[in-house]
Parts: sequence; C-alpha cells; structure tokens
Amino acid sequence: MRTGAGNALEIRKERGKLERVYTAQYYTFYVAVVNMELAKKFSEQKPSGMVRVFQAIEKMNDVLNLSIGEPDFVTEPDIVDAGAKAAKNGFTHYPPLQGYLDVREAACAYWERHHGFKSSPDNVYISVGGLHIPWLAFGALLNPGDEVMLIEPYFTPYEAQIRGNGGVPVPVKTSEENNFAPTLDELEAAVTSRTRGIILNYPGNPSGRVATRKQLEEIAKFVEAHDLFVLSDEIYESMVFKGEHVCFANIDGMKERTLLASGVSKSHCMTGWRVGYLFAPQNVINTMCVLSSFQTYGVNSLSQKAAAYAMNTQDEKVKARAKIFGERMKAVEKRLNAMKGVKCHPAEGAFYLFPDISGTGMTSEDFTWRLLNDAKVAVLPGNAFGSSGEGYLRIACTQSMEVLMMSMDRMEEFCRH
Ligand code: PMP
Repeated sequence: MRTGAGNALEIRKERGKLERVYTAQYYTFYVAVVNMELAKKFSEQKPSGMVRVFQAIEKMNDVLNLSIGEPDFVTEPDIVDAGAKAAKNGFTHYPPLQGYLDVREAACAYWERHHGFKSSPDNVYISVGGLHIPWLAFGALLNPGDEVMLIEPYFTPYEAQIRGNGGVPVPVKTSEENNFAPTLDELEAAVTSRTRGIILNYPGNPSGRVATRKQLEEIAKFVEAHDLFVLSDEIYESMVFKGEHVCFANIDGMKERTLLASGVSKSHCMTGWRVGYLFAPQNVINTMCVLSSFQTYGVNSLSQKAAAYAMNTQDEKVKARAKIFGERMKAVEKRLNAMKGVKCHPAEGAFYLFPDISGTGMTSEDFTWRLLNDAKVAVLPGNAFGSSGEGYLRIACTQSMEVLMMSMDRMEEFCRH
C-alpha cells in the first residue's frame, strides 16, 4: 500500500489488527491480521471427544497410541504400482462423476464374491473415501427437519453430516446386554412421524460388535413398518471373527431401501487413497452425482484405478490381515479381562475392543485422560460415541502385538492404583 493512502488504512484498522509495518523506498507496507468472522453455525462448535484426544497426543512424546482407526499396514506394493501405472497410461484427466466403470464393476464383483450381494455397476457410486458417502446421500435424501436414527454408540461424523444436510440426528440408546444392537423397544422409543431413515454400522465402530442375522431381520421389519431408508455402513465387512457378515441389503425386501456403503480404506489398507463406494437405488446415485459435480467432481483417477486392482486381486491378503487383527484382539481382550475393574467382551469384528471400565469407578473421560497423562497410553472415551458408550473405552488394535502388549502392561499398572 502506498504511504498516504489514508482511507484504505483506516478501513483496515477498523476491520482488524495492524500487525507489521515496513517501508521500502517510496512504499510502506501494512500487514493486517483480520479476525475473520466465522459462520454462526460454527461459532459454538467444539472439538469432539475424539479430536481432543488426537490434539493432546500431538503435543506429547512416548505415547502408545491405541486410538487410531486405521490399519497399521501400508498399502501393498502391487496396488501402489497399479496406481502409478494408471498415471503413466494417461489416467490424469477428470474422472467420470459416478466413477470409472471398471472400478464400479470391481466393487460389484467383490461384493458378489464375498457376500453374495448382486448389483449392477449402474447402481454404484465411487466416493472420496467412505466418509463422503453419508454427506452426499443425506444431501440427496433429506428435507429440513427430517429425522435420522443413529444407533449408539455411533461413528461420530454421522451426526454432523445429518445436521449439515438439514436433518435431525436422533440417537437410539442400546446396551451391551443386546450386544449394542437396538431392541425393538429401543427403536420404537426413538421413531416419530418425522423419521426418514436409520444408520446401521456392523461390524461397528466403536463397539466392534457384529449384529446377528436375527437382530438384523428384526430391524428390517421395523424399517418396513415405518417406511424408512437405511444407510448400512459395512466398511469393516472383511474383519468378522464371530459368525458371518450379514449384508443388510440381502435381507428380504431391503435392497430397494438400503444404501450399502463401504470402501477400500480398511480392507485394503488404503486410507490415504480416499476411495469408498456406495450401492444404492438409481435415483439416489444420480442425485449424488449432481451434488458431487459442485463438490469434488469425482474421485482421484489414480486412486480409483488402484482400488479396482485391489478389489480384484487381494482376497488372500485381506484374509491374512484380518487373521492378524483377530489374534491381536484376542490377546488384548485376555489382558483387559485380567485388569481390576475392567470387563471386555470377546472380539467380534472390525479392529476395535470396547471394554467396560465402570468397575474402576471412573467415567470414560476420567479413565481416558488419566491413562493418557499418567501411563501415556491413548484410547478413546466411549461417551464420545453417544451416551450409551459411557463407562466404556474404544481400544484400536491397529498397532503391532509388541506395542499392544506394552500398552496393556502400562494399563494394568494404571488400574492397580
Ligand atoms: N465408516 C466407519 C464406520 C469408519 O470407521 C470410517 C473410518 N474410520 C469410515 C466410515 C470412513 O472411512 P474412509 O477412511 O474411507 O473415509
């Protein structure tokens, strides 16, 4: 700004704080730091229980971190090669909005092979990670004030995604007695005339529980009776240690009502590639494409091609890694059950354990923060996932057995005092 440009300077002074002034020959430069006013909807927003733990860990040393919800394994080198090959072969342009056909076909083949679920590639949408699916789906389906039932304890982002699209999240309380699956009474207590949909997530984050076919069939009857849509997040389908994975859309009458969400982040250790996918009725897919045309305009071309290769070629590796997660969870569960005041249900699915720590007399938050500060072990408080999670912790077995056992040593010592 030129010296003497008085008016402009006055305006800047009004709007913000003048930070630094320096001169160079005929000019004087003013660097103003403007206190940018945030949208009102964010002015009250506080970091979630999960984010507060993540932020605290960043400032600490020597923490054994059992709070991470992603596999510790890196992406297999041949998958990386497939991505690099795509770049060399010219897949460097805008991708189709719905996703490349071969990627959609790979998702169909994977689900038919593993879960007997049949879909046309026309009914598949490739998304920026699994996380963008609910955002687009709620954008496509919700009118202001529409209610969506969220089964506690739930993956926290759903809540903000419902609100952000004008909907109202309605938590459904559950309990460990019914394995954190809702009973009919719990569902009926939460449903209203404004309810449009329900989110299911089995194997579940954070509970690590797998709903039984009987439980899911009961939920399906409720869904039909109240004419709801279902967002079934089955991103942990490849990690099931008890019984089988039941694909909700395979239950009689549910395919037309279900948005089946998944992705390669967990199964194929590809979190950083950001590829998820959704099977859904055609009108939902079409609207999601329109919405994404002014948000992301599709998904990174190279990541898509790598994901197609991954879904087509890695079944044995996926199985082998699931076995490793299962062994880790079993070992950690055993250690937890030997601790004073701690009770841990055997591992069922995903890579999370959700032990009950109420016997220690501490709340989830107290336990988490004291464990972090005193023993330098990071876990997440169960109440960060809804009130039914109070008295529990989420422990992610996404570290080597050695780190897990060291963490259990520290935690055992912590529980003794
Ligand atoms: N759903 C659940 C239940 C998850 O736990 C996660 C990741 N933690 C996602 C969706 C999102 O996965 P992505 O990394 O593919 O966005």
